[in-house]
Amino acid sequence: MAIPFRKTSKSKRDSRRAHCKLSAPTMIVCPNCGELTLSHQVCKKCGFYKGKLVVAPKPEKEKETKDTKTTK
Ligand SMILES: [Zn+2]
Repeated sequence: MAIPFRKTSKSKRDSRRAHCKLSAPTMIVCPNCGELTLSHQVCKKCGFYKGKLVVAPKPEKEKETKDTKTTK
């Protein structure tokens, strides 16, 4: 296997990694309930999209509170 002729400089390494970055998802405020949701997707809280009810919202679970207790 070939061996690198030179050690890769910090500048070269870092400029190569400049493309390896995460971008924050585009969030919008739901016009129905005011919750922050992903744009172009059904609101997870109220189930509305484009002013219409698409998915019936799920009732709030009690499991979530139990999960937070176990993770402590
Ligand atoms: Zn909503």
